[in-house]
Amino acid sequence: METKIIDGKAISAAVKDEVKEKTALLFEKFGVKACLAVILVGSDPASAVYVRNKKRACEYVGFESLSYELPEETTQDELLGLIDKLNADDKVHGILVQMPLPKHIDEKTVIDRISPAKDVDGFHPMSVGALCIGEPGFVSCTPAGIIQLLKRSGVEIAGKECVIVGRSNIVGKPMALLMLRENATVTVTHSRTKDLPAVCRRADILIAAIGKAKMITEDYVKEGAVIIDVGINRDPESGKLFGDVDYENVFDKCSAITPVPGGVGPMTIAMLMNNCLEAAIRLSGAKL
Ligand code: NAP
Repeated sequence: METKIIDGKAISAAVKDEVKEKTALLFEKFGVKACLAVILVGSDPASAVYVRNKKRACEYVGFESLSYELPEETTQDELLGLIDKLNADDKVHGILVQMPLPKHIDEKTVIDRISPAKDVDGFHPMSVGALCIGEPGFVSCTPAGIIQLLKRSGVEIAGKECVIVGRSNIVGKPMALLMLRENATVTVTHSRTKDLPAVCRRADILIAAIGKAKMITEDYVKEGAVIIDVGINRDPESGKLFGDVDYENVFDKCSAITPVPGGVGPMTIAMLMNNCLEAAIRLSGAKL
């Protein structure tokens, strides 16, 4: 059986094009220009790249984007003051604070301050709670993107055994809730799981969100499994990116796999755009 490479670039482009079309419609029919505010504190180079990519995506889909690049010494109160101002601004539909924040600012306090109606990252406790009990709310972009990758690649989820490696608040846990919503039978594993390879070999769909380059080898994979690799690990010497999955080693054993780069990564920004459009539709009361 031939292994299918799940093309995150193509699928994310399709999602962005759909957002672009609806963004234009929202403006034409209701005069609403979707708007995302992005806040960056400090000068972390990786964060600066992420913010630049988000601004580019806003431009592509036709959003207004407001960019706040604040100095490292910005106080927590100053940042919270800006969030309050954006929460109250009817023209702003999504607010994103790029993580990580400098050490003197408490990330949880900042996340909690963003209005859940504008929480396009899906990190607010109310967004997470809504996901948990199946109510409408924003879903963390990376796991939401993985559901799109699976569905748009024709992978059936209902009734399948899904094993997730990693239990972080931004990937592993929301991923488990989403797969449960899609009627998979879900197992969440972590660094204290006993005999991880044996647990992973149960998976029809194996999702790796660990942060350890090439950890998942063929020993962890059932013949014919679908593998989703969330990991982004940069080799400090070559600068090359590697996933959490040993791609070459597992390739022949699985039925489908996401590459790194070009798999899960591009979906995250596409889903951010999708969430922000959704926020603009909900906040404006438009019926598209
Ligand atoms: P994280 O917060 O560090 O969580 C890592 C998880 O992996 C933890 O739950 C940890 O278990 C588990 N783990 C670590 N070592 C393990 C081991 N040897 N065996 C089993 N489980 C182990 O990381 P994250 O934020 O979820 O990110 C995971 C990876 O995805 C990173 O490479 C990150 O760069 C990447 N990522 C990519 C995107 C994207 O857009 N593609 C988005 C977000 C993250 P414990 O809980 O027991 O410590």
